[in-house]
Amino acid sequence: MQHKKRAWLGAVAAITAAFVGSTLVAGCGSDKKADNEVHNIIYLLGDGMGRSHITAARERFVGANGRLNMEQLPYVGAVATYAVEPNSDKPALVTDSASAATAWASGVKTYNAAIGVDAYGKSVPTLMEQAKAAGFATGNVSTAEITDATPAGMFSHALLRGCQGPTFTEATCLPKKSDGSFEAAPADKTLVTPIAEQIARNGTADVIFGGGLARFEPDDQKSLTDKGYQVLGSMGDPALKAQTADSQKVATAADLTATKSDKVIGLFNRSNLTVTAARNLLPDSAPQKQEPTLAAMATKAIDLLSNRKDSKGFLLQIEGAQIDKRSHANDAAQTLDEMKAFDDAVAAAMDFAKKDKHTLVIVTADHECAGFNIIEKNTFTNAEAVAPPTNVDAGNTANNSLPSRDGKENVKDPARSSGLINGAGANDPKNFGPATFRTPNDKPEVKDGSPEASLWLTYLSGNHTGADVMIYAYGPGGDVFAASQDNTALYTKMHKALLP
Ligand SMILES: [Zn+2]
Repeated sequence: MQHKKRAWLGAVAAITAAFVGSTLVAGCGSDKKADNEVHNIIYLLGDGMGRSHITAARERFVGANGRLNMEQLPYVGAVATYAVEPNSDKPALVTDSASAATAWASGVKTYNAAIGVDAYGKSVPTLMEQAKAAGFATGNVSTAEITDATPAGMFSHALLRGCQGPTFTEATCLPKKSDGSFEAAPADKTLVTPIAEQIARNGTADVIFGGGLARFEPDDQKSLTDKGYQVLGSMGDPALKAQTADSQKVATAADLTATKSDKVIGLFNRSNLTVTAARNLLPDSAPQKQEPTLAAMATKAIDLLSNRKDSKGFLLQIEGAQIDKRSHANDAAQTLDEMKAFDDAVAAAMDFAKKDKHTLVIVTADHECAGFNIIEKNTFTNAEAVAPPTNVDAGNTANNSLPSRDGKENVKDPARSSGLINGAGANDPKNFGPATFRTPNDKPEVKDGSPEASLWLTYLSGNHTGADVMIYAYGPGGDVFAASQDNTALYTKMHKALLP
């Protein structure tokens, strides 16, 4: 394979772009490090962030001619996201977050709901565990519960993603047999140990910021402090065996600002963090106002990890989780604001990486969610639309779809859409109507929700789709991600970059 010479972004001299991990030294400046050596990886993912989520966010926030922060990264590629059926290598074309996270964290295809295990339920090492063992500092940041599938994939192992804690239950931790009874617990008991309990004991991530405090118990806090972690807030009264809402204290943005510990856990909500759009509507006195933004958590994690003594560098995963959750809900306004919040975190990562010059920044997604898309003004895409699309070809009737629509307005066409997956109001055909948003290209008087607004958005479903997702990369060796690749290749490439 041939590697071309080209100037590295902002570098004074052109350097030889070689495989990541090569020991080639450019020989300029006082820096003894090889110019193309990767010391840190910041891996950011927008959960459920499809190609059209990115386009819609661009049009909404920076206008059609603009570029989001993530779109300014120089290397661009695509990632195939499919999962496999349990106990097989047969593709399951639409993945969930657990299978996808396991693919990039451990390099194996696995079944939906699997965390850190292969398709046969066998534990597989994660990149974060390997980085930790090799002397790197590690961090995991999410706007979801930190025990949720995406963060969990880097630092836990479970047969089922629902096994988050606070306690073991058969229903959440054990797979079911075809007759509906639970499978026996596996020999490897970790795989049925609540994810929160694992995180509190395995020391895999040094810096942990997110939600999900209610998944943890007072004895988890003791385990963490025994291991040298600072615990922001409180996981409950140590005199009580189990946590309660009253005895737990969520961490706050002020706690985040104040901490100087490079071994720290801060959980800012007992569940998922509050979505940006909802938090903005709350009064200042609301406790949710004390939650930090994703960008604030990212900035702090980078600061703590990059200053950690005696580390070779760091591996940090940062998840914008609510893009997916609000896409499931088909709430376009919330989804767009979560896209913005995620893109702000990308900016925080890039601020560091541009100064550091040895940081590989990767921005991608685990899968698309909801078939989110941009449609032409005054049009509809669903079978239930006011003006149903014609499915006959008058010029060549051999092309006609069968059965053909009856052409009535607002009449559900069972041949094309069940309508059921759009949630509680799915039986009302009008619920398939698009959401409209103004953009910077619209006149000032144009309002969100009006027909004059130029950004018209709609959904295919309330669930994930099998569409490929984008990947953007910056930094030494980032060029290897400018490809069409499988999600398992992300593990291989990151491993090669950080742990050659
Ligand atoms: Zn999802």
